[in-house]
Amino acid sequence: MCMCLCVNLLLRLQGDFEGMDGFSVTFTEAVCLGTSLTLSGIFYYLHKKKKNVVDKLENAPHFTIDGKLRNLLKATPGEALQYAVIEGSVKPAGEPLRSNSHQDIVGVLQKFTLKEHRLVWSGISRSWMDTERILHKRVNVTPFSLVGLDETAVRVLSPLHASGENTEIINEKFHQPSYSFGQLVGQYLSGEKPKGHLEIEEMLKVGTTLTGIGELILDTEGNLCLRPPSDNSEYFLSLADFETVCKENCLVAFWWKVLAATSALAGAAVLFWVALRYYKHLKRRWEMEQESQEFARLLAEAARLRANDGGVPPNEANNHSFPPNECVICLTQPRDCILLECGHVCCCFVCFQSMHQQKCPICRQDIVRVLPFYQP
Ligand SMILES: [Zn+2]
Ligand SMILES: [Zn+2]
Repeated sequence: MCMCLCVNLLLRLQGDFEGMDGFSVTFTEAVCLGTSLTLSGIFYYLHKKKKNVVDKLENAPHFTIDGKLRNLLKATPGEALQYAVIEGSVKPAGEPLRSNSHQDIVGVLQKFTLKEHRLVWSGISRSWMDTERILHKRVNVTPFSLVGLDETAVRVLSPLHASGENTEIINEKFHQPSYSFGQLVGQYLSGEKPKGHLEIEEMLKVGTTLTGIGELILDTEGNLCLRPPSDNSEYFLSLADFETVCKENCLVAFWWKVLAATSALAGAAVLFWVALRYYKHLKRRWEMEQESQEFARLLAEAARLRANDGGVPPNEANNHSFPPNECVICLTQPRDCILLECGHVCCCFVCFQSMHQQKCPICRQDIVRVLPFYQP
């Protein structure tokens, strides 16, 4: 929607510019400018958002999970710490989840993904491109806690709302179907070859050390809990340590900034290009005005000289003494200028000024100067 607004505004601007001595912003320029400004805005917004996350992370206090943490929370107003960092090992509250592929692996969060891989013929690159799509996704979760060295536990609430890599791939299996010759020919002709299905099983294993960043509270039963922050700050559960989580977010913020700056620069380049075109347009108009003035001055001087000599005014000479000698371009006005260096007398001054190329219409030589022409 923002982009539509931008293009609209630019088209209106284009209208305004058209009023400016026949200068107009082209549709392509308007679209390029609108797109780059809109993208720059979007990237800047994403950068700002990520930057806020990084700032919050850097200011978040770190706590060790031990007996003192409960006392600290009790002493805190509202019995809650809005944004805190803790680290502990994963322990299920009840029976853990068992992996389908490895019976000895148990965990608290299990993800199954079924992906379809196929080769699609691309007419643009003239090659087969690998594409994939998710056919099925299933997540199992069982309540769990993060446990400290002294067995103090912090319950992890809403783990599925958390960002960050918190599972590891424990099984990946590719199923490749076999096709008959006829099917293969059919696939070749249709431009789509199914490659097979990829089955992935991920798990957050029991005993894994997990970094949790969120709101620390004491629930009604006095249990320590970690939950998504009530002020909508980002909730993290990650296998990586705190420094890595910070670095990753910093990097994302940096790249959004780079993209925003690049788009803004592209927008500035388009603006500069339009300004340059407008400047050239104004310069050409100014030159044409100078030329007209000079032409009028020479014409007046010729008339004055002729009057002094007692001759006939040029217009009368054209109308009466000589056969019609009209401009080869407009075919109405008399030929009243001489094009130099070639010396052709073939058009009127108005037509000369409206020529797109400064070339003689008869011999195509460059016109370096124009002078009024009159016959005695
Ligand atoms: Zn003419
Ligand atoms: Zn010529």
